Amino acid sequence: MKTLYYSHPDFLLHETGAGHPECADRLRSIAIALETPEFANLIRVSAPLGTEQQIRLIHPLSHIEAIRAALPKQGQRHLDHDTVLSPGSEQAAFRAVGAVCDAVDKIMTVQADNAFCAIRPPGHHAEPALSMGFCLFNNVAIAASYARRHYHLEHIAIVDFDVHHGNGTQAAFCNQPNVLYVSSHQMPNYPGTGYPTETGMGNIINVPLAAGDTGVEFRQKYSAIILPALRKFKPDLLLISAGFDAHKDDPLASIMLVEDDFRWITEELMDIAASSCEGRIISALEGGYNLNALAASVAVHVKTLLGG
Ligand SMILES: [Zn+2]
Repeated sequence: MKTLYYSHPDFLLHETGAGHPECADRLRSIAIALETPEFANLIRVSAPLGTEQQIRLIHPLSHIEAIRAALPKQGQRHLDHDTVLSPGSEQAAFRAVGAVCDAVDKIMTVQADNAFCAIRPPGHHAEPALSMGFCLFNNVAIAASYARRHYHLEHIAIVDFDVHHGNGTQAAFCNQPNVLYVSSHQMPNYPGTGYPTETGMGNIINVPLAAGDTGVEFRQKYSAIILPALRKFKPDLLLISAGFDAHKDDPLASIMLVEDDFRWITEELMDIAASSCEGRIISALEGGYNLNALAASVAVHVKTLLGG
């Protein structure tokens, strides 16, 4: 497989302050893990800056302006209890959007088969008019909207295996039946949404996991509910909100996945993409807060995207 790997030093400029789990070291540990010879075939791409026009596919201009107005000249400013801005946050957040949109362009024009975007800040909690949960702009939602706008795709699927529910992505697409949003997440846990009764127009599928669940329950639920729904939907493009905080060592949740579970779900999604959309997958980093577990899990995920 031709696999793109997006990164950029600007993602380190989003500084969340001492002790914050969503820290620049997350990307440093991923970068080190992907330096080994088995990743020599990755096509490394410097993430371009995104544009206001791209962000406005999901967020109103007032949302962008509010973030700009809140940027501190130095240090940190809190937008809420856990969502933080630093002087470099706008640059990082725009580049995260640029990465996923460039990946859409390159995958849709067959310059590569799939892509992994090692970006931050993450995106899936960001609602159209609300930054929250470490997220400023909803990168994956923007990518979906961008793909639909520019490539006229009928069916776009977003699979979110981050341990938290992607309330922002659900809010963006709950009344747009040509985007299927499926999420597995620990409940109860932040942000408190993601009940199975939240179904949008039949295009939202929420699959809660319980604290202590392992890869056995995770694979059972994907096999019984999510994978059949994806096969039936036949996506023209498959986007992944790739959070690795369902790992057993993650400090923010209590699901007990191991690296092999991330290999398994990646293979299953590649299988569906191969049969419905020539393998087109764009995976974007969301959570994952134990640095060693994150690096090892991303390594397995990317190695699988490369073809194992
Ligand atoms: Zn998460």
